[in-house]
Amino acid sequence: MTNQGLPETGVEIRLASRPNGFPVRENFEIAEAPVPAPGEGEILVRNEVMSVDPAMRGRMNDVQSYVPPFQLGKALDGGAVGEVIASNSPRFQVGQHVLHGLGWREYATLDAERAAPVDPDAAPLNAYLGVLGMPGMTAYVGLFEIAKFREGDTVFVSGAAGAVGSLVGQLAKQNGAAKVIGSAGSAEKVRYLTEELGFDAAFNYKDGPVAEQLAQAAPDGIDVYFDNVGGDHLEAAIDQLNDFGRIAACGAISVYNDTDPTPGPRNMFQIVKKRLNIRGFIVIDHVDLRERFQTDVAPLVRDGRLRYTETVVEGLRNAPDAFFGLLRGENTGKMLVTV
Ligand code: NDP
Repeated sequence: MTNQGLPETGVEIRLASRPNGFPVRENFEIAEAPVPAPGEGEILVRNEVMSVDPAMRGRMNDVQSYVPPFQLGKALDGGAVGEVIASNSPRFQVGQHVLHGLGWREYATLDAERAAPVDPDAAPLNAYLGVLGMPGMTAYVGLFEIAKFREGDTVFVSGAAGAVGSLVGQLAKQNGAAKVIGSAGSAEKVRYLTEELGFDAAFNYKDGPVAEQLAQAAPDGIDVYFDNVGGDHLEAAIDQLNDFGRIAACGAISVYNDTDPTPGPRNMFQIVKKRLNIRGFIVIDHVDLRERFQTDVAPLVRDGRLRYTETVVEGLRNAPDAFFGLLRGENTGKMLVTV
C-alpha cells in the first residue's frame, strides 16, 4: 500500500494538565501530530463524529479505575465514527464506515480488530455513538439486567434528559412501568421529558430539595432508581424506595469535579430496613447482552418509538468546550462533536 494522497499530519486534542475541580481550557492542548500510515492488519480512519462522555472526567485524574487514566501530553480518546481512507486489513475496504475508540483526533490509525463496521444506510452515523451505541446499551443493561425492571414498577431516573437517562425512561415506559419520573437541570428539559418523551412526571432539581420534589412526584414510592447523579439524588431515592426496591448505580456526575471525598447518603440504614438492592455496573462488562440490545432496541429506533436527540458541537477544536458544556448540562440527549 502506498501513502499517496494520505494525510501526513492531523489535529488532535491532548491532556495538557490534570484538572483540579472543574476542568479549564489550560487542561487541554490542541496539537498537529503525525498520522502513522497503517501497518499490517491496520486501518486509517478519517473521524467524522465523536462522543464526549462524563466518564472522561474520571480518567483525567491520575487514579486507577476500570480504564487507565489519560496520559499527560497524549491525545485523549473516546468513541468515534469515521470513514476508512486506507486499509491494510481484509476486514475493511476504503470507503466503509467504522466505530472505534480513538476519537479526539482527526485521523486514527488502529488495528482493524478494534473497529466495528457501521451501516450509514441503516441509521445516521451519530446514532452509533448514542441510542444504538454505548449510552443506549448502558440504559438497556442498567434497567433490565441490573435494576431487574418489571412491569408495574415505578421508576425514577436522574440525569433524565441526557443520553442514557432519556432512554432509560422511555424503555421503562414502553415495557409497562406504572410511572416514570425524571429529574433534570432546567425547565426546558423538564418540558422535554414530559411533553416529548412521555415521562409521567419530571422536576428540575435546581428548583428545590430533591427529596421534597421526588416525594411529591412519587407519593406511593418508587421501585427502581436509575442513578446517573449520586449525591442528594441518591439519598432522596433511598428514602423514597419501596421495600425490596432496586438501584442501578450507573454514574455520579454530581461528584465528578469534587476535590474532596463526598460524604455518602446519610440514610444508609434504610438499605437494610427496606431490603434494598443497590448494584453498580460498567457497561463494558456486559458485551454478552449486545445482540439482545440490538434486537430489542434497533426496531424501536427505526420506527420512531424510541426518541432521541443530540447536541452537536461543530469542530474538533471546540471539543473541550463541548466537554465543559456536558458537565454544565448544556446538552439535551447525546453530546457529540463533528470532527
Ligand atoms: P448525559 O448526556 O446525561 O450528560 C451529563 C448530564 O449530567 C448533563 O447534561 C447534566 O444535565 C447532568 N449534570 C451535570 N452536573 C450535574 C449535577 N451536579 N447534578 C445533576 N446532574 C448533573 O451523560 P451520559 O448520558 O453519557 O451519562 C449519564 C451518566 O451515566 C453519567 O454519570 C455517566 O458517568 C454514566 N455512565 C455510566 C456508564 C456505565 O457503564 N456505568 C456508561 C455511560 C455513562 P442537567 O442539565 O440535568 O444537570
